[in-house]
Amino acid sequence: MRHLFIYIATAAMSLLTMSACSGKKGQQENPANETVEKKIAVLSFDDGPNTTTTVQMLDMLQKHGVVGSFFVIGKNINEESARVMKRAHDMGCDIQNHSRTHSNMATMKAGELQAEIAYTDSLVEHYIGVKPTFFRPPYISVSPLMYESIGLPFICGVGCTDWEDEVTTAQRAETMLKSAADGIIFLLHDFEGNAQTVAALDIVIPRLKEQGYEFVTVSELFRRKGVTPQRGVLHSLVGAEQAAE
Ligand SMILES: [Zn+2]
Repeated sequence: MRHLFIYIATAAMSLLTMSACSGKKGQQENPANETVEKKIAVLSFDDGPNTTTTVQMLDMLQKHGVVGSFFVIGKNINEESARVMKRAHDMGCDIQNHSRTHSNMATMKAGELQAEIAYTDSLVEHYIGVKPTFFRPPYISVSPLMYESIGLPFICGVGCTDWEDEVTTAQRAETMLKSAADGIIFLLHDFEGNAQTVAALDIVIPRLKEQGYEFVTVSELFRRKGVTPQRGVLHSLVGAEQAAE
């Protein structure tokens, strides 16, 4: 098993990019005239729920008839945003854990770590009746103690720098299309105001469907690939990653 330890000083946290994740970028190109193979991908969204961008994201997923996985922050869950989270669940999306406070958890003690997870788990269970089964560490900041203390598998993903406003819709879409590969988990954000990622999906989803992609939740991805999530790993590309090693 590969252990990945990334220590990020608090001051450097904002500089961290998704390149810190384990997993490989997709290398396959699929010209339109090539025989289309069946592939699966996950659209995952961090930092909700909210009553604005999360709603737009769900509308976009619904428009294209696909599902995704929402990694929610406990402190963002209230009566109103919980209704949006419930809508996602009812659409067939899954709701996963992205901590309570969205802090750099690599500096926390075991008790604090467990409290972060338990808070969000219990609110999600309260509102939708199902507990999260995966965890995405805020800022992809991890420590050995986090792997020891948190029972959920850690999920990373392949992003498109969509937390930076100056990265345009077209650039986001282009990055996603370039990195697409069978088993990929796209790491995107539905924080308030991130409309450019919503718009990027209007480009990306149809294009990837043409290339033979089906969009599933993160739980379904592991099931379909027959992969058991491993402790001490930040999963980004499921199935292909295992096959490549
Ligand atoms: Zn986040």
